[in-house]
Amino acid sequence: MNAKIELENQYLLLTPGPLSTSRGVRSAMQRDWCTWDQEYNQLVQDIRQRLVALATTQVDVYTAVLMQGSGSFSVEAVLGTCVPENGKILIINNGAYGARMVQMAKRLKLNVVELAYAETEVPNLDEIATTLSDASITHVACVHCETTTGMLNPIQEIGALVKAQGKVWIVDAMSSFGGVPLDIADWNIDFLISSANKCIQGVPGFGFVLAKREQLEKCQGQARSVSLDLYDQWFTMEQQQGKWRFTSPTHVVHAFHHALLELEQEGGIAARYQRYLTSQNTLAKDMQALGFKCVIEQNKYQSPIITTFLYPEDDFSFEAFYYHLKSTGFVIYPGKISDLACFRIGNIGEVYLDDIERLLQAIARYRTNV
Ligand SMILES: *Cc1c(COP(=O)(O)O)cnc(C)c1O
Repeated sequence: MNAKIELENQYLLLTPGPLSTSRGVRSAMQRDWCTWDQEYNQLVQDIRQRLVALATTQVDVYTAVLMQGSGSFSVEAVLGTCVPENGKILIINNGAYGARMVQMAKRLKLNVVELAYAETEVPNLDEIATTLSDASITHVACVHCETTTGMLNPIQEIGALVKAQGKVWIVDAMSSFGGVPLDIADWNIDFLISSANKCIQGVPGFGFVLAKREQLEKCQGQARSVSLDLYDQWFTMEQQQGKWRFTSPTHVVHAFHHALLELEQEGGIAARYQRYLTSQNTLAKDMQALGFKCVIEQNKYQSPIITTFLYPEDDFSFEAFYYHLKSTGFVIYPGKISDLACFRIGNIGEVYLDDIERLLQAIARYRTNV
């Protein structure tokens, strides 16, 4: 199967999305699809139901909304729709995606307070608890897997603090949903955001929000934007049973539906998580043996999604390394930490342990030749 990918694609994407997809997902895009009848709407409804069922056993309490654009559009739709004019949002930020939420909240002119941490730091639960005693804070947002570093933030623990204070809880689970087991009801999440091209392994083109129905229903008329009005998007999809308000990314939607079927065939999120975990563990262990240090220790905070490695020596040329690997069929990812010389390797997508082993062999050969 992997040799086939190489024939069709010149390289394997070891990035956190867009990522290498299966042939089945790609072939679902090889024709044009109409949107004006039942067939398409039913496909959309099936996607929405499947997403809710992946997220929780309490399927009646939650609902799914699909939103055009990349994942950030869905994050902005949530922030801009959920926080009322007299509300105030606390954003816990320890990376580029937390910072992006702060930037969005400010641009939307929301009342925002930020708890900022270094990119390599785990958010401090005591500090969060203290900050949450501010009664004017109505909403709290945090990233689950901070793709900047690969750190898995303690969302469950933070969520318990947020709920103890009765605030609305928003989680950017863009790069973890579908790859890390969780139950949004058990974790008290009100709005969870993810997108088509991460752990569900579809192609880019839309994001989705899993929302607690009773919370979303309160958001009518609050949005600061027409196209990013999460409530209106949901209302139309719900009332008209699978209809998108504006042009939908039909090819991407069909590919996504196929990706959901493949996730089910693989054995669901638990099985996918095991695949990712095995790949990540092997990657981290063998890279360390080759002289690369991991930025996040191999503990519960290291996600099974993406790993950040320090440059092995001061004069290490990432560019030479990158282009060499690309010529052997692997695309890795530059670092994103402000003050550390590092790079990242993702292992989500149509990527298996033998791909990681081939990558490690290519890296070992490169290291002995330079
Ligand atoms: C990928 C990602 C996003 C969204 O990025 P887009 O480029 O807009 O798709 C947001 N948050 C996290 C944590 C991500 O990994």
